[in-house]
Amino acid sequence: MKEAMRRLRNYGIFVSMLAVALLGSYQYLSGYTTVSNNVNGKEMPICSVETKEKKVALTFESAWGDEDIARILEILKKQEVRATFFLTGEWVEKYPEGVKAIRDAGHDIGNHSESHRSMGSLNEEEQKEEIMSVHRKVEELTGVRMDLFRLPYDNYDDAVIRNLQSCGYYPIQWSVDSFDWKDYGADSIQEVVLSHERLDNGAIILLHSGTKYTADALEALITGIKEKGYQIVPVSELIYREEYHLDVTGRQIKD
Ligand SMILES: [Zn+2]
Repeated sequence: MKEAMRRLRNYGIFVSMLAVALLGSYQYLSGYTTVSNNVNGKEMPICSVETKEKKVALTFESAWGDEDIARILEILKKQEVRATFFLTGEWVEKYPEGVKAIRDAGHDIGNHSESHRSMGSLNEEEQKEEIMSVHRKVEELTGVRMDLFRLPYDNYDDAVIRNLQSCGYYPIQWSVDSFDWKDYGADSIQEVVLSHERLDNGAIILLHSGTKYTADALEALITGIKEKGYQIVPVSELIYREEYHLDVTGRQIKD
C-alpha cells in the first residue's frame, strides 16, 4: 500500500513537472489544443507546412490596384484552383466588388493589415487596430471572419506574433517568393517559382495582384505546378490549426 502511494505521488510530481515544462513553451488556446509558434525562444510565422501530400498554396497580396483582379479570378476559375487573397483595409474599401468576387469564387480571404505598415514599428494598440479594422470591414461586407494574416514587409517580432494570436489570427508568410512585384516579366515569375528549391510539399507561394505581369504569368505558372504533380489548395486547407510546432524555417510540423 505504502509503495503504491509513493508511486502515485511520484507520478503526480512527474505530471506537474511536465505541465510546467509544456506551459513554458506552449500557448494554450483552449483546454485541449496546443499550438506553438515558438522556435528557440523566438515567435515565428508559418511559412510552409510539413505534409506527405503533394499540395501547395498560391497566395496573393492585394494592396495596390484592381485592374488585374478580374483576369486573375478568371484564370483561377478556368484552372479550377482556389487560392488565398490577403487584402489590406484600404483595398477592401476601394474595391468592395473585388472582395465580393473573391469570396463568391470560393477563395480564402485573409488579412493583410489596414494600411500595410510595418507591424514591428507600431505599439500594441496600433497593431491591434491594424489587424481588427480590416477584420471588421471584411466581416461587414462579406460575412467572412478572417483568421489568416500576412505580415506586411515580412516585418514582425515576438509581440506582433502574440498580438495576432490574441486576435484569433494565424500569421502566414511564404516559402517561395515569385518576386512578381519586381516587374521582371511573366517568364521570370514562372521560372523563379517552378525552379525554386523550396517548391515542395506544403510550400506557400507569394504572388501579388496589381502588378504588371502576375496575371500574364498565372496560367502557365499553374500548369507548371500541376505538371510537377502538385495539387493547389487554399492556405486554410493546408495549415494545421492545432497541435503543431514550427522549425527554424517556419515550417509547420504536426505534433
Ligand atoms: Zn504586402
